Amino acid sequence: MNTRRLVRLLLAVFVLVVPLAASAQTDSTLELYVRRNVGYSGAGEIQGSFRLETNAPPGVVSVTFYIDDTVVGTDAEAPFRVDFDTDNYAVGPHTLRAEGALADGGTLSAAPRQFSFVSAADSWRAAQDIFVPIFSVALVLIVLFGGLAVFQAMRSKANPTPLGALRKYGLLGGAICPKCGRPFSRHWWGLNAGLGKFDRCDHCGKWSLVRALPLAQLRAAEAAELKNAGEGAGAVPEPSKEERLRKQLDDSRYSDN
Ligand SMILES: [Zn+2]
Repeated sequence: MNTRRLVRLLLAVFVLVVPLAASAQTDSTLELYVRRNVGYSGAGEIQGSFRLETNAPPGVVSVTFYIDDTVVGTDAEAPFRVDFDTDNYAVGPHTLRAEGALADGGTLSAAPRQFSFVSAADSWRAAQDIFVPIFSVALVLIVLFGGLAVFQAMRSKANPTPLGALRKYGLLGGAICPKCGRPFSRHWWGLNAGLGKFDRCDHCGKWSLVRALPLAQLRAAEAAELKNAGEGAGAVPEPSKEERLRKQLDDSRYSDN
């Protein structure tokens, strides 16, 4: 047998045996879990209200929990667990343990867990160390993006797009404003909202939920801008009902002659 085959065989045995061993272990050993109720935990340091909990291997009738050599409590009902507050113990390193009593009189010990209890002030400081930089970065980004959005909005106000002008729609595509009916490029600073973007129209400045539309539709809307403007201010106003009636009367009078 050459070495390569031997290594492969050993690997195969290892792959087969390790999960079996692991699953066998979870069935018959007591595992101690430490869960946070309210408080701080990070890098082996905890502060606040926590729960000691174990699995319930067959045969275990009660579990006693310890912090160092002090009994925190005994639970005789699965799920075996007990709550504690780190503030009731000295600041510093502690060993958390769990011991299960078996129906046949034997005991089962969970692998102990090490934690350093920190004071509320220290945990607050540690939390600040984590969150202050995150919040600062987020705040800077919000101010930056907000500023850029305002700047772009001002620029589009200063250079209004002429009616009917062909325009370029960027990567985010163009949309038609439901308020004024004019097409505009969707902005990167618009808020993504599921089906569309909550975006600000370059022309009327109003915000609405808009979806990217095909170019043909946008071009049609560009052309419609001119047409709408023509029908609006420049053209002769529509005759009223009364005027139309009088005109019909006049027409009929002349045609009789
Ligand atoms: Zn608009």
